[in-house]
Amino acid sequence: MTASPITLTSLADQLTGEVFLPGDPGWDQARTPWNVAVDQHPAAVVLVEGVRDVVATVEAARTLGLRVAVQGTGHNAAPLGANGSLADTILLRTTRLRDVTIDPATGTARAEAGALWGEVTAAAAPHGLAALAGSSPDVGVAGYTLGGGLSWLARAHGLAANHVRAIELVTADGTHRRVDAATDPDLFWALRGGGGNFGVVTAIEFGLLPITDLFAGALLWPVERAAEVVPAWRQWVETVPEEVTSVVRVLNLPPLPLIPEPLRGRSFVAVEAAILLDDAAATGLLTPLRALGPAMDTFHRTPITELAQLHMDPPEPVPAAGDGVLLADLDDAAVRRFVDVTAAEPALLSSELRHLGGALAPGRAAGGAVSGLDARFLLFTVGIAPSPEAGAAVAAAAGRVKGALAPQHAATQFANFRESRCDPAEMYGQALERLRAVRSRIDPEGLFRGHHPVD
Ligand SMILES: Cc1cc2nc3c(=O)[nH]c(=O)nc-3n(C[C@H](O)[C@H](O)[C@H](O)COP(=O)(O)OP(=O)(O)OC[C@H]3O[C@@H](n4cnc5c(N)ncnc54)[C@H](O)[C@@H]3O)c2cc1C
Repeated sequence: MTASPITLTSLADQLTGEVFLPGDPGWDQARTPWNVAVDQHPAAVVLVEGVRDVVATVEAARTLGLRVAVQGTGHNAAPLGANGSLADTILLRTTRLRDVTIDPATGTARAEAGALWGEVTAAAAPHGLAALAGSSPDVGVAGYTLGGGLSWLARAHGLAANHVRAIELVTADGTHRRVDAATDPDLFWALRGGGGNFGVVTAIEFGLLPITDLFAGALLWPVERAAEVVPAWRQWVETVPEEVTSVVRVLNLPPLPLIPEPLRGRSFVAVEAAILLDDAAATGLLTPLRALGPAMDTFHRTPITELAQLHMDPPEPVPAAGDGVLLADLDDAAVRRFVDVTAAEPALLSSELRHLGGALAPGRAAGGAVSGLDARFLLFTVGIAPSPEAGAAVAAAAGRVKGALAPQHAATQFANFRESRCDPAEMYGQALERLRAVRSRIDPEGLFRGHHPVD
């Protein structure tokens, strides 16, 4: 007796997880990413429950001549669809792979691909350990780390990808592998920065740091003070050690109940910082900024588990449009242009400049394809996009802010904050050729579709 050929419908019979096809009950929920403004229409959505489901989905896609795109949360869903229709693609979602284990003896964590940073931070903290989590607790460990991973501790400890010890993944041939620096150095290198171009990552092992708390908080001024505060922050960052990672941002907060009352419906310029020093040293460093008389000052010794509140990222899925770009440097004229252009764009919820350098500088860490950032600052702008029209208006405003700093754009870009299409040569720079060589070996038919493709 011969087995019937696989179809997207019969794939469900092979899985513990679920398959959703267009029109099925639950289709809209299954296909909707964290950024709910992104309208994804793949051939099917598979919610996998384990490695066997991943292998079955990869094999079915190959047999059916479909491609596979992996998504955890969908925080960076925008570029995935912007790189062409998803009609020939199975969207494999790792949302249900959530196990996190901490090994205090080795100071490592193993997080399944659907785990969120808030879950890792909460699991590590009771052991006196911290992960290089990003600013938002509901960003996924996998997408963030595979892109590089820029945390509040980045200037002292570099990118999250540099702390990865091993990666488990299912490759295009349906093999489940555990890849580290010894078993397949090239693939291990490519995965750390090369994103979703090489397979379905099922779990990541990474080193933790012995950090329980730090000095962190924000200073806020009315937005009319931006012309004083942004240049002062720009001068201040020249004076701070690597233990300080900071951001300056212009915030136009909507009048929504989820925004705390003193901030709701108002506009601010803010400096946020995480400082890995004792209180006296941190307080001393903040003196020049506090001398500008902020209207609010939230700095205090902060447990590592509270750090995820510092940036006030939305606690649940939102419709958003935005984009980010690395900046080689910022001179006085560029700082003035940032102040002027953001003042003219009240539709943007946040326009921020993150201070890079320190342990992020290229050459400081021998990691993977993205082991440092060849830029001194990162610009990210975002706005709420409840309708396609609002999304277009926000995207245009974000484009104007990016455009005002065009002379400062760095030669290579950073996948995590890039939410629009990007030429692979600009995204991966000198790493591109080697990334393509690894992809040709591991995925010769181009089964996998990363949100920032290498080809
Ligand atoms: C509110 C907010 C705050 C953020 N803060 C930070 C920050 O502080 N630092 C920072 O570096 N970034 C930050 N980001 C950017 C974030 O790191 C990227 O959006 C990242 O891609 C999200 O990963 P994800 O898995 O949550 O998202 P997804 O959209 O699910 O994944 C993005 C891409 O990663 C790849 N991918 C994901 N999972 C897998 C897998 N299991 N196997 C193979 N490939 C996979 C795929 O190519 C996928 O398209 C932030 C984003 C938002 C929206």
